[in-house]
Amino acid sequence: MNIHSFLDTGLAFKNPEQIAARRDALLGEHLRYLAEHSPFYRKLGSALREVRTAADLPLLPLTDKSDLADPDNVFSCVDSHRMVDCCLTSGTTGRPVALPQTARDLERLAFNEELSFRGAGIAPGDRVLIAAALDRCFMAGLAYFLGLVRIGALTIRGGSGSLPVLGELVRNHRPSAIIGVPTLLLRLAERLQGEGVDPASLGVKRLIGIGEPLRNADLSLSPLGLRLGKLWGSDLFGTYASTEMATSFSDCCCGRGGHVPPELIVVEIVDDEGRPLPPGQPGEVVATPLQVTGMPLLRFRTGDIATLHDGPCPCGRNTPRLGPVLGRRSQMLKMRGVTLFPSAIFSVLEEVAGVRGYYLEVFDEFDLSDRVRVVVGGTAGALDPNDIAERIAARTRVKPEVLVMAPEEIQAKVHPGDRRKPVTFFDCRKTTRQGR
Ligand SMILES: [Zn+2]
Repeated sequence: MNIHSFLDTGLAFKNPEQIAARRDALLGEHLRYLAEHSPFYRKLGSALREVRTAADLPLLPLTDKSDLADPDNVFSCVDSHRMVDCCLTSGTTGRPVALPQTARDLERLAFNEELSFRGAGIAPGDRVLIAAALDRCFMAGLAYFLGLVRIGALTIRGGSGSLPVLGELVRNHRPSAIIGVPTLLLRLAERLQGEGVDPASLGVKRLIGIGEPLRNADLSLSPLGLRLGKLWGSDLFGTYASTEMATSFSDCCCGRGGHVPPELIVVEIVDDEGRPLPPGQPGEVVATPLQVTGMPLLRFRTGDIATLHDGPCPCGRNTPRLGPVLGRRSQMLKMRGVTLFPSAIFSVLEEVAGVRGYYLEVFDEFDLSDRVRVVVGGTAGALDPNDIAERIAARTRVKPEVLVMAPEEIQAKVHPGDRRKPVTFFDCRKTTRQGR
């Protein structure tokens, strides 16, 4: 059975009502599949049959990471002999959770990445460096590889573990596009410059950023995005994905947020109490991935805060778009009545000349208020902590404590062991806020 695709009918480009109707039909199939095969969701009984459209989803409970981690809950829907890939979550916010995949699930992932990469302009004949891990049971690198194979582009499997390896591959195999974590692509460009090579001269036309946003809340490019584009002389495409969602959302050529593939997922945005929020308002992303067979989920709380945008995109598609992730719900900072995410502070630091790495620590100050310390890497005397604090205050309305340390110390702190992404947020608050 093939994955249902709206491409065949050009439906992604037609009117929003038609798109919603087809998506709701697939949602109905998903709910029937859960009722029949999912030991965990079957317990919802007749409630599953009451949902007719995506707007009815709030009738059903949310699923969160603790539900997935509980060994008493059985989410898997097929016999183990039908599983072909043992996929694990990255474990950024807890122990890795296994999400076994069937052959059809891998086909679905490949289709999803084909949609994403085609939307970013990748075509047969492109040479694409995958600067992301294909091993350690991660889903993402495998999905990129399968999607590129479907397109017929050349894959260059560089992985994310070694800058020297990536530098060699870029120089010798001249990719036309690179997929990777933005800060890794920044370090790769700086390494090439250090070797006397101008990255912009290498012919890399597209950078596809994963794991970290490249855009601000208003969808303009972030300072990191602008810097990367200039260094590599490339167009930038942001993506957002997670293993549990088994779906990625990618910028099209117009950079107006990641298109939500309506045949693969229903996205809701909810407030702190789990109530639905309308398009245009930031809230927690809740995902119901469609057409998954191995371990399908229902109303999964991602913990990520983002905004859904409706209305047509200048590219001609009428599918909704998801803005960049503004932060993790658990990383929300509350300082003297102002609520903000670490990314707002990091985007100021990206613009300060001489800053070489940074991280943020947060402590309890008093009830409902946090004390934030920003630790910045730089040469002693070259950076003025008070000036940096003022610049942060001018943008965010809160003035944190700023410390300057040697860049090597920052590097050691933010790149511990083999973590995929730099760790720039350290939560020292006593109260557990994982659930927030
Ligand atoms: Zn578009």
